[in-house]
Amino acid sequence: MPRSARINAIKLFYSYTIREAVDVTGVSARTISAWIKEGLPVMKHQRPFLIRGDDLKGFIQNRRKARKSQTALHQFYCLGCRDARDAAGGFAECLVNGNRVTLKAFCDVCGNVVNKPFAKSRLPELKGRLELLRQVGGRSESLRPAKPEPFRTSR
Ligand SMILES: [Zn+2]
Repeated sequence: MPRSARINAIKLFYSYTIREAVDVTGVSARTISAWIKEGLPVMKHQRPFLIRGDDLKGFIQNRRKARKSQTALHQFYCLGCRDARDAAGGFAECLVNGNRVTLKAFCDVCGNVVNKPFAKSRLPELKGRLELLRQVGGRSESLRPAKPEPFRTSR
């Protein structure tokens, strides 16, 4: 069970190195790296990389809200809207990694990229609610069986 992050000591107008972010939040460096992959903004034009205190605190608060807010199976929590949103166009990209799946889509309202982990075994439950595009070697491909080409008679 990962320890929950402490946010009370985060100074909004201070920029933290990863090491300092670990100290101030009490989570592991691995968790901080995972947050950066999830979208925690980081200033990369100098080393060591710095994370703004307000970004760090906001990111943790958003994650907590995301966990509490009720998103339907086919919906995503949008960090831009801070609410549950449908996928734009009704489809999501499906990145499969073993039994773990990440669904990636665009927010229907603001256009932000939204994503969430999903259980591979539950993918069939999305049928009819969300069209899934499987990511294959960088290009997307529908998970639905291809429709047979209608037979065309030549004129
Ligand atoms: Zn949005």
